[in-house]
Amino acid sequence: MTTSVLRKPETAESDDVSFVDRIAKLSRSELTPIASAIDDGTIYPEQALRNLGAAGAWSAHTDLRDTIAGIAAIGETCGATAFMAWCQNTLVWYIVNSPNAALKARFAKNASSGALLGGTGLSNPMKSFFGIEQLKLKGRKVDGGYLVRGALPWVSNLGPHHMFGTIFELEAGETSAGDKVMFLANCADPNVTLTPCKPFLAMDGTGTYAVQFRDAFIPDDQILAAPAMPFVKNIRAGFIMMQNGMALGLIRDCVAIMQGVRPSLEHVNCYIPQQPEDFSALLDGLEAETMELAATPYESSNSYWRRVIELRLRAGEVSVAAANAAMLHCGARGYLRSHRAQRRLREAYFVAIVTPATKQLRKMLADNAREHSGEQSRA
Ligand SMILES: Cc1cc2nc3c(=O)[nH]c(=O)nc-3n(C[C@H](O)[C@H](O)[C@H](O)COP(=O)(O)OP(=O)(O)OC[C@H]3O[C@@H](n4cnc5c(N)ncnc54)[C@H](O)[C@@H]3O)c2cc1C
Repeated sequence: MTTSVLRKPETAESDDVSFVDRIAKLSRSELTPIASAIDDGTIYPEQALRNLGAAGAWSAHTDLRDTIAGIAAIGETCGATAFMAWCQNTLVWYIVNSPNAALKARFAKNASSGALLGGTGLSNPMKSFFGIEQLKLKGRKVDGGYLVRGALPWVSNLGPHHMFGTIFELEAGETSAGDKVMFLANCADPNVTLTPCKPFLAMDGTGTYAVQFRDAFIPDDQILAAPAMPFVKNIRAGFIMMQNGMALGLIRDCVAIMQGVRPSLEHVNCYIPQQPEDFSALLDGLEAETMELAATPYESSNSYWRRVIELRLRAGEVSVAAANAAMLHCGARGYLRSHRAQRRLREAYFVAIVTPATKQLRKMLADNAREHSGEQSRA
């Protein structure tokens, strides 16, 4: 495992073991025995998420490179839990970056320790900002907060007492109609309903629900940012780059899978054009660029933003390619339900379809190139 760029964030546990090694060790001991049950959807690993929190996995936001390395370490064992790690880390990322001091005082400590679990409902807003669909949540101002209505089709890492960050649009007729507000939704609110989703191809143990808001009251100390858009611009690169952690862990394990069958199958696997060394090299490149970009997550230049999008696109594509190659290297043994190669393939597709999905990333790059064509030709 590459640990060169990693520093140790402050945690409850202080010892000489590096942060990432501690997370990796905990992931192996807690998640290896239950990874296929999480994959089947029979377990939502709440206790493991809380234990990872106690080990510092959700409190590494002073340096996003640590957060990403932690997600990657988890993803080496279980892609679904790496996704939940991303969800939890985005929740913390929103809170620690919020200008709302009352919100931070109420939620920062518990979210970063794992006492409060939750995630993010930004897929719909992220798609709406890039002209793919309309915002699904609407709100209106009332005394001391807002009333929110509407529904989101999928939000993960949820449960009866979890919270997540999302965005509503002020209804027509409001003084600042059209403005967007980012807030923390509370699943314990009786006017917020969670409905289990139909079974997925993978990720069934991720606590994913459709969420309906029926005039749910959102108090002012649950407002992450109003207006939302300057805040979104600030957190969006971090939001996307933390997803690369899911890819890095998954690709690393695909390389290990390919290497694992080499002793018995090298004589025939050598004819497969993609070898583990090819993916190791791609992994090193992805990791190095992720860590370079994650060192400055608030950078606002367009060239930086384009690099973030291009890298995220590559992370999804290499994930699918690596998992596909792992399947081909394993042959029939990887086709067994009990083998993790087929789980990796299903998890890899999720890296490529979770928002921003491959198709959205390509649209974002095309739109961006059009918008900045003048600048590029002047450069
Ligand atoms: C397992 C899983 C977990 C997810 N977790 C989260 C999360 O935590 N937070 C979050 O914000 N998003 C979550 N999503 C949504 C995800 O990030 C993507 O937005 C989603 O997969 C669709 O993206 P797309 O680019 O394919 O959308 P598009 O193809 O561009 O559009 C899809 C749109 O079509 C509609 N649609 C299509 N199929 C269905 C269906 N079966 N049921 C309902 N509506 C449908 C919806 O309006 C949806 O937004 C999750 C999705 C999955 C599969």
